Amino acid sequence: MASSQRPIKYIFVTGGVTSSLGKGIISASLAKLLQVRGYTVTIQKLDPYINIDPGTLNPYEHGECYVTEDGAETDLDLGHYERFLNVHPSQANNVTTGKIYQAVIEKERRGDYLGETVQVIPHITDEIKHRISQLGEGNRYDFVITEIGGTVGDIESLPYIEAIRQLKWDLGSNSLVIHLTLVPYLSAARELKTKPTQHSVKTMLEYGVQPDILVCRTEKPLNDNIRNKIALFCNVDASSVIESIDTNSIYKVPLLMQEERLDQVVLKKIRMPVKKNPTLKSWRAFIEKLESPKKQVEIGLVGKYVELVDAYKSIIESLIHAGAANNCKVNLKLLHSEQLDDNNVTESLSGLSGVIVAPGFGDRGIDGKIATIKHVRNMKIPFLGICLGMQCAMIEFARNVMGLPDAHSTEMNPATPDPIIDIMEEQKKVHIKGGTMRLGAYPCELKKNSMAFDIYKNKEISERHRHRYEFNNKYLDLIEQHDMVASGFNPDANLVEIVELKNHPWFIGVQFHPEYKSTVDNPHPLFINFVKAAIKHAR
Ligand code: GLN
Repeated sequence: MASSQRPIKYIFVTGGVTSSLGKGIISASLAKLLQVRGYTVTIQKLDPYINIDPGTLNPYEHGECYVTEDGAETDLDLGHYERFLNVHPSQANNVTTGKIYQAVIEKERRGDYLGETVQVIPHITDEIKHRISQLGEGNRYDFVITEIGGTVGDIESLPYIEAIRQLKWDLGSNSLVIHLTLVPYLSAARELKTKPTQHSVKTMLEYGVQPDILVCRTEKPLNDNIRNKIALFCNVDASSVIESIDTNSIYKVPLLMQEERLDQVVLKKIRMPVKKNPTLKSWRAFIEKLESPKKQVEIGLVGKYVELVDAYKSIIESLIHAGAANNCKVNLKLLHSEQLDDNNVTESLSGLSGVIVAPGFGDRGIDGKIATIKHVRNMKIPFLGICLGMQCAMIEFARNVMGLPDAHSTEMNPATPDPIIDIMEEQKKVHIKGGTMRLGAYPCELKKNSMAFDIYKNKEISERHRHRYEFNNKYLDLIEQHDMVASGFNPDANLVEIVELKNHPWFIGVQFHPEYKSTVDNPHPLFINFVKAAIKHAR
């Protein structure tokens, strides 16, 4: 519940000059600073592409696809929002141009527009405005922060900027626009340059939007001259020119923004009481642990997109949280599954005290994942298999322990004689690829006397999913005869959610994605325990 009946405040975050300036982190950091002041905040991402959601996008295009409790496949920025705020986002927190157009076209077909010509303005912009204000309905939040993907000036983000212009007009002092820009340092001139920021604000002004606050991404501190110059050219006061200096951890950004008084400037401008500065005690304690770890551990992550860390964002962040919880720095080595085989795996994995095999789809890199799992199983190296990683663990186990040399997943080999991983019954009739996997949170019941139970300390848990294939229960008795235990089941479908190996210090495969639920305030028990096992192995 929002703390009062005050009108909801809407904050829009736009980006200029280039992409990748960290709008998501700035939005999440501001939200955190408002949250620790006792306000309720939600963050929404508007993505100007035509896909309905990033679920069908290749990680090369778009990095990781983040999954919410209610089963939305979303932009990875929602992961940052959740990790910073420790609040679950939902379907409504990520809207794409595809979704906007789909809704408008459906209305047109239904006849809702009563013969009107359907146009970008007002129909598309109305739908955008509706998606923004809808999130604020029900008095659940004091603040709705809406991040506009892309860069101002892009053709595809025009309707969004226009919608903000209209909303700013409608909402008056209950809204403000934060524009994130780049202030590059030219080493030849030994100077920070403000011109790109000036131009980017000019572009905003052409569209009728005056930014209220400028957050300037920079590699060198902004001095007063630079701040005054930006203020003068961009019609903002100098206190509204906020420096966002490069830092080695995204988790330091809330502290930097607090030093720059971003939250105070926002509250003043939006006419909310500023009150005392919060101490951010637990956040600082987390940073302290990141900065001065007592030990280090080497962990490997085997996947097929290792050249692109964004593809495994949530796993990487979960390991950072779990490392801090263990007062330990996790040195992560990304290993390309396509480059691993039985001959080089010993050398490639040498020095690693724990290995994660990543989620994924399709055949590429499967053999390397299986070779990795065989090695860590035999060498008793702590292992966590996530989704496809768990499925590969079952394939490896069937082939090398259960004596089923041709066992496979029907995803890779539909004709396998031993489909230890098979398509879920309800998926057989699915032909449309978008949004049709088993998605979102499902309950899981843990067996007492299992590692999983010891780790979660709970019989009933809930985790998020994104898959079409599952462990084939036909092989349940056989795996258990060979010391593999199915320790977690979905109570309704009897689907195996967790497997673990007896006679191994730490070997767990999970059909779900624990990485989506690890946050700074609530690091995930599986990752904490896995890192702990890796530390023990290193000794
Ligand atoms: N491709 C597998 C499936 O669909 C695993 C998916 C995943 O790792 N997210 O079941």
